[in-house]
Amino acid sequence: MIVKTSVLASLLKVMPQLRQQVYFKSSLTALSHAMEDQVLAGSEQPLIIACFQRERFYRQEAHRYRRIAQRTHQLYVLAAPETEFKNSSDSHESIAFDPADALSKEWHLVVIGQQYANCLLCREKATPISNRLNSEMDTSRRFEGIWTFDRNVSIKAAELLLNRIEVYRPELADKLQQAKTDYLGELATEGSGFPADSPNPDPFVQRLVTYLQAGQYKLLKAYRSISLQEHRERLVNSITTTIRRSLDPHEVMEIAVQELGRAMGSCRCLIYRCNATDSAAIITHEYLETRDRDGINLCSTVGQQWPLQDNFLFQSIVEHQESLLVEDTQQDPRINHTRAKSANSPSSTLKNLVQTFSMRSWLMVPVLYQGQLLGMVELHHCGEIPYRWKDEELALVEAIATQVGVALIQAQAYANLQDLNQQLEALDRTRSNLVAITGHELRTPLSTVQVCLESLATEPDMSPELRQVMLNTALSDTERMRKLVQDFLTLSRLESGRVEWNLEALSLQECIDLSLSQIRSRWSEGERPQIITQVPDNLPLVRADGEWLVETLAKLLDNACKFTSPQGKVTIDIQYSGNSMLKITVADTGRGIEPNRLEDVFDRFYQEEGALRRTTGGTGLGLAICRQIVKGWGGRIWADSAGKDQGSQFHFTVPIIAPTSESKPSKGKGKRGNKRSEVRG
Ligand code: ADP
Repeated sequence: MIVKTSVLASLLKVMPQLRQQVYFKSSLTALSHAMEDQVLAGSEQPLIIACFQRERFYRQEAHRYRRIAQRTHQLYVLAAPETEFKNSSDSHESIAFDPADALSKEWHLVVIGQQYANCLLCREKATPISNRLNSEMDTSRRFEGIWTFDRNVSIKAAELLLNRIEVYRPELADKLQQAKTDYLGELATEGSGFPADSPNPDPFVQRLVTYLQAGQYKLLKAYRSISLQEHRERLVNSITTTIRRSLDPHEVMEIAVQELGRAMGSCRCLIYRCNATDSAAIITHEYLETRDRDGINLCSTVGQQWPLQDNFLFQSIVEHQESLLVEDTQQDPRINHTRAKSANSPSSTLKNLVQTFSMRSWLMVPVLYQGQLLGMVELHHCGEIPYRWKDEELALVEAIATQVGVALIQAQAYANLQDLNQQLEALDRTRSNLVAITGHELRTPLSTVQVCLESLATEPDMSPELRQVMLNTALSDTERMRKLVQDFLTLSRLESGRVEWNLEALSLQECIDLSLSQIRSRWSEGERPQIITQVPDNLPLVRADGEWLVETLAKLLDNACKFTSPQGKVTIDIQYSGNSMLKITVADTGRGIEPNRLEDVFDRFYQEEGALRRTTGGTGLGLAICRQIVKGWGGRIWADSAGKDQGSQFHFTVPIIAPTSESKPSKGKGKRGNKRSEVRG
């Protein structure tokens, strides 16, 4: 049977003068214990009716009630059963009511003796969801009702409860009637012998209850703040964990913007990358509610150029490195500056922004990492009513911004690491290449040297002519090996910046002569093409390191001879390149270079045939060395060719020391004033 009528409501109906009060659960526990202790400490045999909401609450007190039952035979305990509780008549009467019964929401304790009577009748208040710390948390439960020493109220309450018990357990009718006769017979009236509210609840007790309530309230507040903090930390943790899972900056910002926007309940949330000197940022990550608080559609900022340089708020954040809050964009003087006349003034920029995107309240939190601005988090509230961000909300957004900063730096570090890895891989490839070429370049001449020396050692009868040939071959191959090792060392010195440049005023003609003499000593007669020099008269001096300049010229000439048949032609030409440089060109009529390889030839170990199939000798390091050398005096080197078998032109520039107008030669080859000479081997 389910009775929906509340006992408290019935009492208030018949005694409307009673004033209800709110009690925390712990206060009710203390009051109930005090009332029970009074019974246990006294010598009376009172009528006691205790209504527990659930069996589990009764079970916590069952031991006290077993002791109370030894005091009186009129003890009634009511509860909604959960496991074992049922109607029974043992040491006391147990009354089990349906969990859907109104009693399951009520907490009653009525004690009526000869000397005193008191009662506690309360109903549990529903806790609003926003106040609920945790459904399991007992401390936040609140009740509303009456606690009194008034005998008349206690008798009325007892009567209502005894009647209710009779509904559940009609078989107890006689016992209940007896209780009514023994305890409820006489209301406290003048001359009845019962004091109306005796003993008077001491004012001290009243105060104690007030303190108890106040303490409980403070406790509850503390719990609430702890719970808020916990909620904040959980949110920060969950967002942090999610964004830290990614090493892609775009993914980090997208996750953070969505999670934060949702958690903060804002109309719009933006996260963009920027640095202090940027003039604008393009918005790519946005959380957007479709409508504002007043149901008006909101427009997206994605793809927008978000002003930064003309944005007073942004500039202020850059200066102070602190978050900035505009509670009401329509009232804030920073946005509604009256002096803003021009449509392009900073404050009209902000006004336009606010209007276009219906921003009513605006929060900007910088994403900083070690004082460096990496980006910005913005929250917008749109609609008629400004939004006031609470301190804890601001703290939350700042905590997330910090995490975004860390995640962005982490992603950046990862990208750098990947770059570094690629460089390392390239270096590794170079190293392997180096090993392969070194192996090949050194092994071939080494084998020849070995064969020659072995033959010389094991063939004592070898003719003196053959002996000479053997020795010459061994010597020339040893020279080839020496050259390779020298090139490696030279390039390594140049690349590591360990070369001391001796820049001096030089005559190009002299340098060309020196390089030509080297070529003559390297190439025997008839083996190389004709070399023609076209050096204008009155050339200005150049500023370079003489030794390296001769080395570059010799290398280019050597290549030209190497890749051109003896019937071909090699030309050295000098022209002005702007006012401050001379351009030296070594051109040949040889095998040429494919247009898509013109840059590659300057790479270390580049050889058209591939390192291991080389036929012309050389290390593939010559042009790489030349590029490093020319770079050393601030010049440039490059190659031109019309393609295969069309010849090649290698150009490099050298700075002039003092360009003079009269020394400037007329352009074009073979013009008057040019000194033309031909060199044959
Ligand atoms: P190598 O020791 O192989 O000559 P270089 O660095 O001097 O090394 O040259 C690299 C490659 O560039 C050569 O192997 C060749 O394929 C190409 N190259 C250089 N100079 C010329 C040229 N004058 N004509 C055609 N190809 C050339």
